[in-house]
Amino acid sequence: MKKLSELVFNNTYSALPKSFGTFIKPQPLDDPFLVSVNNRVSQMLELDPAQAHTQYFVDLFTGNDEHPAMAPLAMKYTGHQFGQYNPDLGDGRGLLMGEVLTSSGQKWDIHLKGSGLTPYSRQGDGRAVLRSSIREYLASAAMAGLGIKTTHALAVLSSNTPVFRETVERGATLIRVADSHLRFGHFEYFFYTQQYAELKLLADYLISHHFPEINRHNNETGQYREMFNHIVQLTAEMIADWQAVGFAHGVMNTDNMSVLGLTFDYGPYGFLDDYEPGYICNHSDYSGRYAFNQQPTIALWNLSALGYALTPLLEKQAIDQALQNYQPLLQKAYSKKMRHKLGLKATLEQDTALFAGLFDLLKSQAVDYTLFFRTLSSLPHAELLSASHHFQALFEDLAPLAAWLSLYSVRLEKESLDDADRLDLMRSTNPKFILRNYLAQQAIELAEKGDFSMIEQLLAILQHPFDEHPEFDAFAKRPPEWGKKLEISCSS
Ligand code: AMP
Ligand code: MG
Ligand code: MG
Repeated sequence: MKKLSELVFNNTYSALPKSFGTFIKPQPLDDPFLVSVNNRVSQMLELDPAQAHTQYFVDLFTGNDEHPAMAPLAMKYTGHQFGQYNPDLGDGRGLLMGEVLTSSGQKWDIHLKGSGLTPYSRQGDGRAVLRSSIREYLASAAMAGLGIKTTHALAVLSSNTPVFRETVERGATLIRVADSHLRFGHFEYFFYTQQYAELKLLADYLISHHFPEINRHNNETGQYREMFNHIVQLTAEMIADWQAVGFAHGVMNTDNMSVLGLTFDYGPYGFLDDYEPGYICNHSDYSGRYAFNQQPTIALWNLSALGYALTPLLEKQAIDQALQNYQPLLQKAYSKKMRHKLGLKATLEQDTALFAGLFDLLKSQAVDYTLFFRTLSSLPHAELLSASHHFQALFEDLAPLAAWLSLYSVRLEKESLDDADRLDLMRSTNPKFILRNYLAQQAIELAEKGDFSMIEQLLAILQHPFDEHPEFDAFAKRPPEWGKKLEISCSS
């Protein structure tokens, strides 16, 4: 485990030409202090977690000190926001601080979010508030704990610098760690500004740093085709994971889409409590463009926007072909996840009806999505026909559930998996804990009063959401009345 000063950096992105971004230093926050550090992420970086408790760490990541091997840079990108192209985007309040190289050769971007004004800040103040930083911090850990690809968050720091949103809040920073911060919008920028040599350079950069499996002997067009195929596949798999676990991103603009299929930029996201397919977590999404059940379609829309930006590198036919793979790839990944949620290994024709019946049932009675599957994960096959009462807290009318359970019981007879293995599979697929909005809200309200204990508790359970943690049963309940339908504003 290294000290901060001993980290090895290899800043490959900042070696790219000028048009890729702007070097600029973070602006200091006043009286900074550490809110929380994620030891797991620290270990990924081979950084001694104790380093986070040093003044140097706090100063470095609040713009009050420097690291000799870091070269802070605001990345330039553009993108489609709610379907409209915006040419003026880029890191408006974040900086790529540098790329850490671990002893195993793994490279990690260190990005500081909330670091102050950049040339791409537009009308914004360049800042992030404590509330939204905690939301991103916890969600990153929750998604990683669920086994879903995501950016990570090393730490949250706060300060006495006032930041003006609906009210005055504390200025904060989040240290984001990711394999890469390349977005669909990076490609869109070079395409729409007709910088085709840079577009090609970006594609070559992505391939050489992140897609080593692409055949370098293939000709260039072949490599770009493989690259786009990879992005389509990674995106389809990410969306399958989101839909299966009940995660709504909320702002699937193309500048928030990672080319590595990482869940990227946690704003007004939400995990489903009650099963509500049309759930809109973003208070400002009036048309429901980014509703939960729209995510698969929107991801394809975004991939098409990326494909269009790649037309100088790839023939239209190759782009269309890759896009046509999206739906089957998504379906395959999603159906596997969902079958595991029911403890099914085989794929049978009748399963479509079994799932359709289940979704109707969950929707018609607004059943808690997570708790339903978790409860189901504890029921031996032999008890299914008399198991409805286990779901009493989740259903108003148990009769349709009993009918579905009997279909499920019949279906299980066609499985070779024995009961113990099936339940193991289900318990490792159906989390007991998700980051419910009201829990995040409670942790934030305490943190705003200086009490960070609930952040630590949530971190501990969300990193292992499939374990029982009986002492935290209270965090695995349906939300109380006040905590249902919390509206999450876009302000952050
Ligand atoms: P988002 O909606 O979070 O994906 O952000 C869209 C764009 O707005 C990005 O270019 C951000 O860097 C920028 N942005 C968001 N909040 C701020 C802020 N407070 N100050 C400056 N830029 C911001
Ligand atoms: Mg963003
Ligand atoms: Mg954002």
